[in-house]
Order: sequence, then C-alpha cells, then structure tokens
Amino acid sequence: MREVYLDNAATTKVRPEIAEAMAKAMVENYGNPSSIYKAAQRAATAIAAARQQVADLIGASPKEIIFTGGGSEGDNMLIKGVAHANVKKGRHIITTQVEHHAVLHTCEELAKEGFEITYLPVDEFGRVTAAQVEAALRDDTILVSVMYANNEIGTIMPIREIGAVCRAHKVLLHTDAVQAAGHIPIDVTGDNIDLLTLTAHKFHGPKGVGAVYIRQGVRVPALIVGGGQEKGLRAGTENTAGIIGMGLAAAYAKENMEANAEKTRALRDKLIEGILAKIPEVRLNGHPTDRLPNNVNVSIRYIEGEGLLLLLDHMGIAASSGSACTSGSLDPSHVLLAIGLPHEIAHGSLRLTLSEENSSADVDYVLEQLPLIVEKLRAMSPLYHK
Ligand SMILES: *Cc1c(COP(=O)(O)O)cnc(C)c1O
Repeated sequence: MREVYLDNAATTKVRPEIAEAMAKAMVENYGNPSSIYKAAQRAATAIAAARQQVADLIGASPKEIIFTGGGSEGDNMLIKGVAHANVKKGRHIITTQVEHHAVLHTCEELAKEGFEITYLPVDEFGRVTAAQVEAALRDDTILVSVMYANNEIGTIMPIREIGAVCRAHKVLLHTDAVQAAGHIPIDVTGDNIDLLTLTAHKFHGPKGVGAVYIRQGVRVPALIVGGGQEKGLRAGTENTAGIIGMGLAAAYAKENMEANAEKTRALRDKLIEGILAKIPEVRLNGHPTDRLPNNVNVSIRYIEGEGLLLLLDHMGIAASSGSACTSGSLDPSHVLLAIGLPHEIAHGSLRLTLSEENSSADVDYVLEQLPLIVEKLRAMSPLYHK
C-alpha cells in the first residue's frame, strides 16, 4: 500500500547521507572531544564545523551557539535561566497563549515559584502584534517569549516587529524557532532576537539534539551542570554524531531552503484548495498567507479527529490532529481554542505537514482518500444531516 508521510511538524525523516555521516562519526570520531589524542580531536573539529553550520542557518556567530538535547531542553534552559538570573530586576514574563507546551509548562512552573506570566491572546489567525507586546511590558518585565512560527497552524509571528519593541525597551526576546528554522529565513541580528531555540529533528536531522542561540553579552545560567562542556552551559560529554548530523541538516536546509519552500508551498496550496473544494463545511486554520510553506490545518465539521487519523492511517496516510502531545487526550488543542474555535469544531481538526520529499502524487492520493473517509465518518455522526 502507498505510504504518505504528512506529519513533518511532529518530526522529519533523517536524510540518508546524514545518517551515513553519523554512523561513520560514531566509529571514527569516537573520542571524548575534551581529550587531546587524535580520535578526540577529530570529534572536536567536527563539532566546531557543525557549530558554524548551525550558526550560519540563523545568521549567528558560532560563539553564540550551545548544543543541547533538543527543543524542549532549549526552551527550559533559556526561559528558566533568564528568569532565575534576573529576579533582582523583576519577575514578569510575557508569552502567548499558543506556545508549544515546552514553553507553556516552563512558564507554569515559574509561576509556581512566584513569577508573573502574561499570556497574550492571539487573533483569529493565531498572531500577536508588536503593539500587544509593547502594551503588556512593565518595569519589572524581564523576558518576552514568542514563537517564530506555530507548530499546529503554521502561522508566522511578526518577530521582527516584536524584536524592535523589545530592543527599544531593553527587554530580552526569546523565540522558539523550532518550526521555522530550516524552513524560512531567520536572521537573529535583523530580528533583534536575544535567545532562540532550535532542534535538529524538525529539519531532517536526528532526534535528541538541538541548539540554543544566546546573543553575545546575554547571561544565561546552566540548566544541567557537571563537566565544563559547551562553555559550562550544558554539561555532559558531547553527542558528537548527533551534533554532526544537526550541522549537516542545517547546511542542507540553508542551501535548499528556497527551492524546498517553493516545492512544499505549491503542494500545500494544492492540498488546501483541493480540501476546501471537495469537502463541504471545512475551514482553514491559521493565516492564509503568513504561514509555514509546509503546513495545512483544517477543521472538518461533524467529525472527530481521532477517528479520522485512524482511517487515514488505514489508507497509509500519516497525519496529526492538533499537536502530538494533545492527541490521545480528550482536551482539544489550546491553539485552536485560542484562535476562537468552539470545542466541537476544534475536535475535528486535521494537520497535514509536508516536506520536500512529498510528491504531487501524494497530494492527489490524499485528495482522493480524504473526502471518502470524511463522508464515511459523517454518515455515522448523529450531528450530521445531509
Ligand atoms: C517539536 C517542538 C518542540 C520540542 O522539540 P523537541 O526537540 O522535540 O524537544 C518545541 N517547540 C516547538 C514549536 C516544536 O514544534
């Protein structure tokens, strides 16, 4: 049976040449990078090259890149770190209602410690404005954390405008750029970003390795202490193979960003147009134009997401309903509720996220199968009357 993978916002396939380079690194560059002999120095040199590749993806200097164990770790490290390092200045943090749980749950923990969190509401497309951020700033605000692009609905936030406001008021800006990095251009200098989170597995690199950008001069304490690795900011013997894989994935993403975005954008638009034309009572979630080139998110009335995913899987189509973390629970996605969808509509949502490895034939297959599946589910739904 045909297999169509459309859950690239949850994770991506590692590119085969990257997997090969990682396997080679494990048997050749196995030395501990802190040691002086050749097998160790080969590893240290490869890590330095990867640091440069990751820095190049976002317009940073390699001195500003710290490797981590992924996106969740990066968000925890930066937000908790800034909060704890700045308690003398204040205890107020501004974020949004649509952040990833790695940011939201970190903020909830900080709230229990006595920090005050403002969760900015979003518009119907899932965006906050720089004016909203500016209006929420207080004398005791120590951090603004706004994601670069949303993992569920693909909406891109006006980070450059928000960065200008934060810089003018001398408040640090963190952005969770996990969904944006490698997919759309990011320039930490032009955007006035102080702190940024990345993870390799969202752009065809390996899972369990990520990086944070910490602008030179910004102080963030370590989340994990031990040996002095990563400038003392992230202790633990380096994940050499993973870091090499992340560097190669960053270089591939930068090199092919425009062509890949053009390809997925065309597939995305074909999917959106086809779904809206073929299935009645469907709405597109997220911004119509300011959205990630690979994201489709629709709400299909009178059906329930879990049933839809099961039937899609039965036909070989891998998709998601809401975010991976919320599926399996009965709570509808916090992002869909934040953009104003009623519970019953939020429950019938479907996220299809493409990669450049998808083809036009994949899209045709989905546009053939999805209407049949929706019809089947609606026929069983007591809410649906033709
Ligand atoms: C996937 C994701 C994360 C978590 O990254 P991990 O590497 O899986 O820990 C954080 N934020 C966003 C927006 C994500 O999409």
